[in-house]
Amino acid sequence: MAYKTIIEDGIDILVVGAGLGGTGAAWEARFWGQDKKIVIAEKANIDRSGAVAQGLYAINCYMGTRWGENKPEDHVRYARIDLMGLVREDLLFDMARHVDSTVHQFEEWGLPIMKDPKTGRYLREGRWQIMIHGESYKPIVAEAAKKSADKVFNRICVTHLLMDDGRENRVAGAVGFNVRTGNYHVFKSKTVICGAGGASNIFKPRSVGEGSGRTWYAPWSSASAYGLMIDAGAKMTQMENRIVLTRFKDGYGPVGAYFLHLKTYTQNGYGEEYESKWYDHTKALVGDYIDRHPVPTCLRNHAFIEEMKAGRGPIRMVTTEAFQDPHKETVGWENFLGMTIGQAVVWASQNIDPKHINPELTTSEPYVMGSHATCSGAWASGPEDYAPAEYQWGYNRMMTVDGLFGAGDTIGGTAHKFSSGSFTEGRIAGKAAVRYVNDLKQSQPQVSEQEYLDLEKIIFQPLENYRLGRNEIVAGTVSPSYLLPIHGLQRLEKIMDEYVGGISTNYMTNDVLLQRGLELLAMLKEDMKYIGAEDLHQLQRTWELHHRLLASESVTRHTLFREETRWPGYYYRGDHMKLDDENWHCFTLSRYDRKTGDWALEKAPVYHIID
Ligand SMILES: Cc1cc2nc3c(=O)[nH]c(=O)nc-3n(C[C@H](O)[C@H](O)[C@H](O)COP(=O)(O)OP(=O)(O)OC[C@H]3O[C@@H](n4cnc5c(N)ncnc54)[C@H](O)[C@@H]3O)c2cc1C
Repeated sequence: MAYKTIIEDGIDILVVGAGLGGTGAAWEARFWGQDKKIVIAEKANIDRSGAVAQGLYAINCYMGTRWGENKPEDHVRYARIDLMGLVREDLLFDMARHVDSTVHQFEEWGLPIMKDPKTGRYLREGRWQIMIHGESYKPIVAEAAKKSADKVFNRICVTHLLMDDGRENRVAGAVGFNVRTGNYHVFKSKTVICGAGGASNIFKPRSVGEGSGRTWYAPWSSASAYGLMIDAGAKMTQMENRIVLTRFKDGYGPVGAYFLHLKTYTQNGYGEEYESKWYDHTKALVGDYIDRHPVPTCLRNHAFIEEMKAGRGPIRMVTTEAFQDPHKETVGWENFLGMTIGQAVVWASQNIDPKHINPELTTSEPYVMGSHATCSGAWASGPEDYAPAEYQWGYNRMMTVDGLFGAGDTIGGTAHKFSSGSFTEGRIAGKAAVRYVNDLKQSQPQVSEQEYLDLEKIIFQPLENYRLGRNEIVAGTVSPSYLLPIHGLQRLEKIMDEYVGGISTNYMTNDVLLQRGLELLAMLKEDMKYIGAEDLHQLQRTWELHHRLLASESVTRHTLFREETRWPGYYYRGDHMKLDDENWHCFTLSRYDRKTGDWALEKAPVYHIID
């Protein structure tokens, strides 16, 4: 049981997870809700938490409307092309029309943004990206959030959302535990804004053995956003739309600045251009989508994967030409130093100097998230002035659970938000949550004491399992009575990899594999009550695994439901290899019922609001 129970009552807005989305939410909620009680519960320390913890070298979403560079509509068109036609255009437009003001605010707060010396404008890396000296990006936005919140609880792993005792389908707060003290925390709140990030480590990573722990998306992005929301009954969308990244091999170093700014290009193991070779083949699968500009990310992956399968790997990035220019060489290295130092270390350890050797690329294992070139997440209500009626049921960015809002990786259908767009979406959610609280009046959510006492037992049980089970250890760490979180994680990754389209099947799956995957996931689910946690750190690992497992089941069910291959290069349905616009130009939605364990899946229309 918990060391101590700490109850935080009377919260108006609880922010769960304060990465880019969560910090934006706290900041904007304070602007509109001067009298509101705003509390943050964060698993790490908000100064260095989330996907931006280590810093970034570019802000990937900036319109530049004041200089006539792009309009918000242009960004919607771009994201729509990249996601093979399926995006929530209302949500994307809403983000894009506000994102520039967010970036200007970052600059005011001290984020150094590089300038083009000739024009004085922000220095562009590509059409949407601007370059920053971003090592301190996260501490800068965290400061704004800390000044806005009444209280910040760091080191709280939120495990469950609390539901209103008096009204169905309404959120009433959250519970979790402090990963350092073991205290049990109960947050009673009128609204929850979930910003708990995306999901790494649900598919077996390429980095195993000595490279274990190295992933592209942050290893601490543990699918909590999805796990928390799915368990609370929120409708999810596009969970099948996992993302595969082309990155530098073994270090997952980013390639954006190389392609866009340094103008590097790729070739196969024999020094040949290969993408054009796969044009006809790809056209037969996806039709005209291959003719869009820029070519969708998944289709570029597809050519890479096919060329590797044809035995003409490795695929390399040609850096030796660009790196002869000392300025470009500096930019190439600095790109890693501000964001992925590990890649520079890998190159040093493998005798790769990109000035003389063209480094290898690889395609990553799949990740699940909602803010990059992919759009898995919760089904959210759209902006009042812009969303079609069918996409509106209350407040902007509110999910299908009353009082539950989200931002960033949490919200589905809205790809290409990146860091600035996630913060912007947090701002939109924060503003809407204040309005929701103002409108509540006498109808306040109630928390049942029984609910959080029951949850306390469930949450801390793995410590007890370990305490008793360790007496029966038969060899090393093996016990007949419990399994450790790492065992559960590796089992999950293997199932997802082999049955749901991971690296070992070249991202291929089909209905039979998916059905078997679901059976194996169900068995893992049964075993979760036997997890033994040695200490609080392992208890956190246990709850991260719960969230990853629920998210994985959702991914599997969505992948089974969508009977087509919409995004070749992200995954393939071997039994439905072609894109099928006639039947599947739609969103997929799911809802999980935690009482029965049943999932309901349905289609929702895609509205093209922008021409
Ligand atoms: C490798 C990499 C490179 C990227 N490069 C760029 C780039 O160059 N430019 C750009 O603009 N964007 C980039 N992005 C994207 C950007 O980082 C994300 O879009 C953005 O961080 C998403 O915001 P978020 O709030 O949804 O998640 P995050 O910022 O990841 O925040 C999630 C927060 O939730 C917390 N949390 C998780 N689980 C729990 C729990 N159970 N309880 C409590 N708290 C929890 C985490 O600790 C974290 O603070 C990159 C991302 C990655 C991973």
